[in-house]
Amino acid sequence: MTKIVEPLIFELSSPGRVGAVLPELDVPPADIPAELCRADLPLPEVSEVDVVRHFVRLSRMNYGVDLGMYPLGSCTMKYNPKVNEVAARLPGFVYTHPYQPEDQVQGNLQLMWELQEMLKAISGFAGVSLQPAAGAHGELTGILIMRAYLCDQGETQRDTILIPDSAHGTNPASTSMAGFKVVEIKSDERGNVDLEHLKANLNDRVVGLMLTNPNTLGLFDEHVCEVSRLVHEAGGLMYGDGANMNAMLGIVKPADLGIDVMHFNLHKTFSTPHGGGGPGSGPVGVVEKLVPYLPGPIVDIQVVGEEEHAGHAHEGEEEMVEVFFRLVMPAKSIGRVKTFYGHFGVMIRAYTYIRMLGAEGMRRVAEDAVINANYLMAKIKKVYPLPYDRLCKHEFVVEGKLKDAPNVRALDISKRLIDYGVHPPTNYFPLIVPEALMIEPTETESLESLDHFADAMLRIAEEAKTNPELLHEAPHNTPVSRLDEVGAARNPILRWKPAE
Ligand SMILES: *Cc1c(COP(=O)(O)O)cnc(C)c1O
Repeated sequence: MTKIVEPLIFELSSPGRVGAVLPELDVPPADIPAELCRADLPLPEVSEVDVVRHFVRLSRMNYGVDLGMYPLGSCTMKYNPKVNEVAARLPGFVYTHPYQPEDQVQGNLQLMWELQEMLKAISGFAGVSLQPAAGAHGELTGILIMRAYLCDQGETQRDTILIPDSAHGTNPASTSMAGFKVVEIKSDERGNVDLEHLKANLNDRVVGLMLTNPNTLGLFDEHVCEVSRLVHEAGGLMYGDGANMNAMLGIVKPADLGIDVMHFNLHKTFSTPHGGGGPGSGPVGVVEKLVPYLPGPIVDIQVVGEEEHAGHAHEGEEEMVEVFFRLVMPAKSIGRVKTFYGHFGVMIRAYTYIRMLGAEGMRRVAEDAVINANYLMAKIKKVYPLPYDRLCKHEFVVEGKLKDAPNVRALDISKRLIDYGVHPPTNYFPLIVPEALMIEPTETESLESLDHFADAMLRIAEEAKTNPELLHEAPHNTPVSRLDEVGAARNPILRWKPAE
């Protein structure tokens, strides 16, 4: 069936049509350099309504979490409460400038300090730096901290980082960027780190182990404390990939599991929008011995006049203690990893979210994220093979392979889901599951939307048997149907060009 494609704005152009009316010139015309006055640019000549319709039409071709469920595993595409946006747009925040002196931006610094403290309370770490711009950036930062610490200990021969095969793909990439070698550690049949394989690879060349926990299978490592103990015993440090803290909030603190360094993803766990390229925020938390190495500046609190006032307050009178927030560089800091103070707008959103929910709410987030994922898993595993069949945390991974439908692949299933109005799950990751479909519903989905997703998955499994062509050609209800993804990656067309 041919689709009637609405014209693009460039094709709507009509000579002489204008979208804005400027007043008569009441100053002498300026001399504009000739190279700025090109007459050969084929700019569209369009009216205001053409422009508005163009952009609204484009926005309706887009899919986002404000439109429907977005179960993209590992990415935590939960709904982002609008109150976060209101807070981030408060004039006092919007109109501050990074070069303003500390005494003019005490409110901003207080927010950053409180966010550092809240992240410390959530994770059990002794120090937090808000500088890194995203999760992978936090990983690189954390590894540089580990390197600086071990070098200070004289352990300069250590050059290898162990990474389980169920880790997120950014882990080996960050390791390589920091100049270290990667050794992959196998998973056992329950999806945990294989302890025997780990032991065989521990020696005095090991910088540490990077553990995504829960891992990309959505499984909490049942031997995490033993893994930490073994790595520490070999003189290494434990890096925790905390991008997916969604399942742990208020239940377990990574520092209690033996993790020494960890990054958070404010743009996942703490509900700040992501996708489309950022900005994100990947704060790094560390145990006491690593605090001096944190990137700076970090925010410190100084209590002014505490001594004069201490103990002198009269009955019924509040103690007059003033605080001042300062930017400080930790003593042995690895330096700056970001211009200015990190992505402040993202920090405001995460702060608002944490304050709105409070400690109780944080725990509810984790409980609901876990129960939603297990509910879906129980419904879907009846039809889709589940390689690691045990309770999951925030996500789970099934095989996109069906009995009686040998020619249908995970990609076909994902594309067909689009026709049911759902964003596909993560495909073909982790690599240890063939035809992987990695599903993370998040806690913000209702029972109805979970059921809609499960029903769609089950119907697609039926269609795969009775009408596989329908899946091979899906999606059918979108502005463009099945794309040539390899061609798009190899020969991208990144802008519209007028017809020759
Ligand atoms: C998303 C994610 C990352 C990377 O975070 P970015 O902000 O995309 O760089 C790292 N690890 C895990 C487990 C993730 O889910």
